[in-house]
Amino acid sequence: MAATYRPDSSFQELTTANSSESHVAAGFVATFGETLSALRKLFQTTDPTAQPFVLSGSGTLGWDVVAANLIEPGEDVLVLGTGYFSDGFADCLRVYGANVTELKARVGTKPQLPEVEKALSEKRYKAITVTHVDTSTGVLSELKQLSALVHKVSPDTLIIVDGVCSVACEEIEFDAWGLDGVVTASQKAIGCPAGLSISMFSGRAMKAFQNRKTPPAAYFASMKNWTPIMQNYEAKKPSYFATPSPQLIHALHTALGQILAKPVAERFAGHKAGSDKVKQAIADLGLKQVAANPDEQAHGMTAIYLPEGVKGADLLPILAKKGVVFAGGIHKEIAAKYIRFGHMGVSVLDPNRNDIERALKALEEGLAECGYKKA
Ligand SMILES: *Cc1c(COP(=O)(O)O)cnc(C)c1O
Repeated sequence: MAATYRPDSSFQELTTANSSESHVAAGFVATFGETLSALRKLFQTTDPTAQPFVLSGSGTLGWDVVAANLIEPGEDVLVLGTGYFSDGFADCLRVYGANVTELKARVGTKPQLPEVEKALSEKRYKAITVTHVDTSTGVLSELKQLSALVHKVSPDTLIIVDGVCSVACEEIEFDAWGLDGVVTASQKAIGCPAGLSISMFSGRAMKAFQNRKTPPAAYFASMKNWTPIMQNYEAKKPSYFATPSPQLIHALHTALGQILAKPVAERFAGHKAGSDKVKQAIADLGLKQVAANPDEQAHGMTAIYLPEGVKGADLLPILAKKGVVFAGGIHKEIAAKYIRFGHMGVSVLDPNRNDIERALKALEEGLAECGYKKA
């Protein structure tokens, strides 16, 4: 007899929440349509020519969508270099044939406006990309003045934002700031399960796609394939190119409903208050942030230099034992020297959770167990 399949401890019975659901049934079609409309509110756009996309995939898929659809082989793209994630975006753009210029900032900072202006005046760039929060350093890039500068000195250049670590925790005004593309994912500040690439593109970006001379070199990531599907679902009509994930879209629908139940400005202010608390506590512990300039510090995460003599490989398991997960460093120049503390979504906004206080207490105790004494 064949061996019996024994479910392990993580086995869950199939319920309506996790069994298969038709992606063309009326209930799901309405949910998907409402989800796409809700994204317009989250991104603060009322421009009917702006186009939201929700695709199965992680945040990285957003880079492919930009690179495959908005840029043609040989076209120039200026990538503002802030760390690991801007490097990834640059690599992805090159895969599709873009001619990438990276304007790299020192670790823990961002390219400054005069350098950006100089770079833009040297070449006609099809697009500029900016990583709103580079999760490898906790550096926050300012978008409003940057976008105004690009519109002034290089008005045809598309302004593309990697907002994977910023959408729903940092302010983004898609229309008012004149952005052309913001790509994000379901699992960070939006706070629902991983597995969705979420993006918004301006009418201008959609026009750049329609005016391509060459077809996009992608199939699943092609806007040609997905634009009519997104438009049909938003009009509450079933439509098929490739099967969406009803479970994840239900989760996103719920998360957006919770987020948009209050003014988004309150959500951003809540993240700032939580972030201020973390940053103050880090300073009180005698620690330094990777992003040294307060104007360049993200509000949904903090990258913290380890004190001399303390190794992340020793500290992180101690913190995990205390029930708190910090992440290690990933910026290649300083990876072993710092750790990362995420404080976004429920962990900062739910007053009943005390996550920040618990994490800070664990950090203080963990550092002491590693022999650290504040100087
Ligand atoms: C996490 C992250 C990504 C990649 O997203 P995945 O969902 O892991 O594919 C891209 N950019 C930034 C800024 C991120 O924080």
